[in-house]
This record gives sequence, structure tokens and C-alpha cells, in this order.
Amino acid sequence: MQDIKNFKFWFLVGSQFLYGPETLKQVEDDSRIITEGLNASGQLPCEVVLKGIVKTTEEIADAIKAANRDESCAGVITFCHTFSPSKMWINGLALLQKPWLHFHTQFNSEIPNEIIDMDYMNLHQSAHGDREHGFIGARMRIPRKVVVGHWQDEEAQRKIGRWMRAAAGAAFSRSLKVMRFGDNMREVAVTEGDKIEAQIKFGWQVNTWPVGELVNVMNDISDSGIDALVARYADLYETETADEDAVRYQAREELAILRMLEAEGCGAFSNTFQDLYGMKQLPGLATQDLMAQGYGYGGEGDWKVAAMTATMKAMGSGLTGGTSFMEDYTYDMAAGLSLGAHMLEVCPSLAADKPRIEVHPLGIGDREPPARLVFEGKAGPAIVATLIDMGGRFRLIVQDIECVKPHLTMPNLPVARVMWRPEPNLETGAEAWIVAGGAHHAVLSYDCDAELMRDWARIMEVEFVHIHKDTETKTLEQELMMTDIAWKLKAL
Ligand code: MN
Repeated sequence: MQDIKNFKFWFLVGSQFLYGPETLKQVEDDSRIITEGLNASGQLPCEVVLKGIVKTTEEIADAIKAANRDESCAGVITFCHTFSPSKMWINGLALLQKPWLHFHTQFNSEIPNEIIDMDYMNLHQSAHGDREHGFIGARMRIPRKVVVGHWQDEEAQRKIGRWMRAAAGAAFSRSLKVMRFGDNMREVAVTEGDKIEAQIKFGWQVNTWPVGELVNVMNDISDSGIDALVARYADLYETETADEDAVRYQAREELAILRMLEAEGCGAFSNTFQDLYGMKQLPGLATQDLMAQGYGYGGEGDWKVAAMTATMKAMGSGLTGGTSFMEDYTYDMAAGLSLGAHMLEVCPSLAADKPRIEVHPLGIGDREPPARLVFEGKAGPAIVATLIDMGGRFRLIVQDIECVKPHLTMPNLPVARVMWRPEPNLETGAEAWIVAGGAHHAVLSYDCDAELMRDWARIMEVEFVHIHKDTETKTLEQELMMTDIAWKLKAL
């Protein structure tokens, strides 16, 4: 469901008739070689398709209208090999509904000393053709990503690849449906939000289904279906419980949730331990195994984090790091580490080793002890991302973190856990997160980095705050004050 590799990206190369047919033929040949080179680089998750050398207002508008109409087109990449006067681009760009990347490259990486003459300069003039192109993007205030570099340069290719994931994530987001079981956990503020604004900005269709309907579907699940899923659990996970009934009950819950998600075309769901009417266990293993298949999840009615988990899983598709719903739970202040976990629901894609199925009582929720997966998260660089509703707009906060192997075994902690050092350190990192209003719920990802999330936020036109190794709270506070004013002006 979240495979992004079938999306295409349209490559439009700007020129004009001024230079004659020979030059235009050369522009086309070069553009074809650039396209093939990018596709062969191994850095791009999706294919670039050369859609022609555009030379007039009509050609540009037609190409952009066609890109808008094509469901498989997740974005448009432009490059001006020669000069391409920007008034020709206004009518087309005014209609552009797809994410835009301006690739400021050049066919040759070096100037050929013996060959260069005026004809050569006219052919290879993106150095000023792309400045004209940049002006019109700025003048029209269209969100776009600018990538500078030779098309064979790995860093430039990598940036294009990251942006493609963000653009594909935007397409995924705009068709995402979220299934809510139960409402928000009582009195919690940060998990609330404006579902109308979320649909306008992100395309998310967030709706509620009764828990009683889920219970009906659970009662309808066959024993053979449960047998098959329990056998799959045994392949994927170590079983460290004798309580087969508890595990089978989770399989029943998983199959029922999955059936409802599939029936409604939903890619994410939320529930709350305060509304489990008719259910014997809070879904733990069930939710974890669904997340491992790419579904988004949010606890305590948090549909925003559920949608973000699904979207970030889609953007990381094909990568092997892992992405999960996450919560800052408790600190080891002496070690400068945050311990992330949840009551149960952490995705096993984060696991360093084979997760174990265990059954333990749950202190809250007044239900039977649920089966859950217990594991340690991987070590390595990652991010945590949180989306909050500021009233009138959303703010996406992303923090760079370094996950570490937990230095404690915590033998009595019955849940999956990840330990990390937030950037720039626990004190400033947590201070910055709290000053910016970051939630206790987040998405932790080893696959999506801050650059990708910045690209996605730019495409979705939401505020982006990045907490990183150089963050200082004083500067951040000033930034937040200025951006608050800017976003209020934008809303006028
Ligand atoms: Mn929670």
C-alpha cells in the first residue's frame, strides 16, 4: 500500500527558439543523457521521465496541465539548459498542482578549454538561464526545492532522491484515510486538532467508526484465519509466553482491524485504552504487527500522529531503517538520554534483534493482560517528528537524535524501548522541543531525515521547525515569534 516506486517524475527542460534547430536538437540529446544518468544512478526511488524541451508559453502550460492530470506523476523537475525567458513559464506555473524541483545543473561539469566559444556558451547557459527561472519561482511565491550540482554528482542525486520521497509522500498523504476507534483520551490537549484544516492541508480524511463494530468483526474472524496469523507470528517473532489464548486474541484483533481498514481503504488508525467496550485486551501485538505492514497508528485517539506514521512509512518505503509511533516516556538524566516507549504500541521495524512476544498485565485500562512485542531499538542516527495544531495552522517539529543501545537491561520493563540522545543534548534539546510545543507523541524514523521532512513540509505548506546540533533556545524563540507573525499574515 505504501510502495512509492511506481510514481514518475516529469523532467521539463526549458529553452526557446532563438538558437535554431541544431541547438535544440543538442539540448534534447543532452537532456536524454541526463535523464538516463539520473535513472541509472541508484540514488532515486522513482523514475525520471523526460517530457520534452519546452519553448513557448503554450508548450509549458500544456505540459504542466498534463502533469496535473496524470495520477502517476508525483512531481515536476525543471532545468533550463539554455536561457528560457520566464514570462513563458508564468501561465503554466500558475496552474502547477504538483511538487516542483528546480534542478540547477549543467551538461558538462567542466569548461572545455579548447572548445569553448560563443555557441558553446549559448548552449550551456543554465548559470544564467536558471537564474531567470529562479526569479519567476520566487516572484510567484511557489514552494519549490532547488538542487544545485552536476547531474552525475552523488550528493545532488541524493538530494533529488530525498525530495522524490517527500513528493511521493505528499501524493500518499493526499489520499490517506484515517480510521478512528473512540475519541481523544480525556482532557489531553496536544492530541486534539482541526480535522478540516488537516484535510485542506494534508488531504487526510479522518473519520470515526464505533468500537462495537470492530467487536462484531472480531467475533466474525475464523479460527483458521487466526491459526494462519499465529503461525506467521511464530516465524517473525520469538514466542516467550505460554499464554496462547492471549496471543490468539491479539491475532483476532489484528485480523478484524485489518478487515475494516481494507474495507474502508484506510492507511492508518487510532484507538484509546479508555474505549475498549467489548474487547478483552488493548491491541498490542495486533497494532505492532499492523504497523510493521505499513499502517500508521496513534494511541489515545491521536489521529495526527497516526497519519504522520503512515506518511513517513510511505516516504521511507524500500528503506530498511524503520519508522514507528513513539512517545518520550522517561529520562536517564544522568546519562543525557530519553527512553522512548509506549504502553504497548512500538513498531517492530525499529527492533535491533528478533522481537519477543510476551504477556504481562497492563496497569491501566482495566482489561486482561495483553500480548505485546518486546525489543530494544537499533542504534544509529534518526529523527523524531511531531505535528501540532497551533490554531489556524499546523507546525511540524523535527528533532535530530542519536539512538543508542540501551545501557540498562531494565528486566521489569515489559514493553519495547528505544533510547536516544536528542540534539544538541538532552537539556537544550528537550527545552527547544517544549518551547516549540512538541507533543509527547512523535514518529521516530531511521529512514526519513530532517531534509526530507523539510521538503515535505514545504510541499504541504506547513510551518517547519528543526531542532539540530547547533540549535540554541534563544535563537529558536526569536524564530518562533517571527514565524508566528509571518503565518498569521499568510492567513489573511
Ligand atoms: Mn501515549
